[in-house]
Amino acid sequence: MGKIILTGDRPTGRLHLGHYVGSLRERVALQEKGGYDEMFVFIADVQALTDNAANPEKVRQNVIEVALDYLSVGLDPEKVTIFIQSMVPQLHEMTQFFSNLVTVARLQRNPTVKTEIRMRGFGEEGGEQQAFGSGVPVGFFTYPISQAADICFCKATTVPVGEDQEPMLEQCREIVRSFNTIYGPVLVEPEILLPSKSVCRRLPGTDGKAKMSKSLGNCIYLADDPAEVKKKVMSMFTDPGHLKVEDPGKVEGNCVFTYLDAFAEPEDFPRFWPEYGSLDEVKDHYRRGGLGDVKCKKFLLAVLEDRLAPIRERRARWEKDIPGVYEILRKGSEKACAVAAKTLHEMKDAMKINYFDDAALIAEQAEKYNR
Ligand code: ATP
Ligand code: MG
Repeated sequence: MGKIILTGDRPTGRLHLGHYVGSLRERVALQEKGGYDEMFVFIADVQALTDNAANPEKVRQNVIEVALDYLSVGLDPEKVTIFIQSMVPQLHEMTQFFSNLVTVARLQRNPTVKTEIRMRGFGEEGGEQQAFGSGVPVGFFTYPISQAADICFCKATTVPVGEDQEPMLEQCREIVRSFNTIYGPVLVEPEILLPSKSVCRRLPGTDGKAKMSKSLGNCIYLADDPAEVKKKVMSMFTDPGHLKVEDPGKVEGNCVFTYLDAFAEPEDFPRFWPEYGSLDEVKDHYRRGGLGDVKCKKFLLAVLEDRLAPIRERRARWEKDIPGVYEILRKGSEKACAVAAKTLHEMKDAMKINYFDDAALIAEQAEKYNR
């Protein structure tokens, strides 16, 4: 069986460094390596609406932002099918059939959805203890089911994402197993592909909070200009106990070092900080005392700028051809529809929802009534 890669992002804002290390960088590496049959990347506008129903314009505006971010990190529309979720209506039909295979209790156990509900303030009516208060939109509560359809439509084998997606992948695998057991072996169980560096599986925000997330406003965006990036790096959370340069400093929980773990490569030292041979040497010095935050931040800034400058340049080129970008999305959506229609057809065949194609059924019913 071939390898089919799929991932998506919600158009709720521009993409940030968390997306980059958690998933985008992996997608581009897979694209460059080749050896897969198909790669799909999609903009999850239907999912974005589950918690932005009153704000459709925000979602609409961000569809093109996410598309530009995809192209600017180097996803190549010749090698990858980029599409918009809402343009593939077969996904809704799949979601409906899948929703019969999942219990309310199972959905309530999803730890990522629980956290997100708290973050978005939906849980309030249910009180502190109960994440799933009556204020949660049904569509949001059930989005893991719709996400299973997003993965299954193309029989994805490989899903490169951050660790917050682990519960979604597990839910999807359970749905696939139930479907195949009840109706027959149509669907494929996907594997999660987490970044190899553990720090990249969930990059913290610039404020030191657990996750860089659009919803928390603690992001460095891929499209930020150099002045914005500089401002964010210079005001980044470090070690609050490291007051004077001579003081010993803590590296754990210090954003500058977390980001260096995620981004710095051995080659960066001769280029940007030849006084040190490796990140371990820098960390040792910081721990001993005598190395100031500003020096570390300047190095981080140099490393980030090295990665972001080509992304910005590519973005600037694509921004000059917005109609072309929409055309890429249109073509990609058409292709995704064709693939989804094929899988849906197989699913309905297995479920015996094929009344008009089933000559035997029609003959059998006719026979029953005309004996
Ligand atoms: P929202 O706040 O709207 O949920 P988000 O910033 O969490 O936005 P998503 O669109 O939900 O972004 O996530 C898209 C992909 O990026 C997922 O694969 C997710 O695992 C990954 N991702 C998002 N934030 C991070 C992060 N801080 N570290 C690693 N991966 C991340
Ligand atoms: Mg999210």
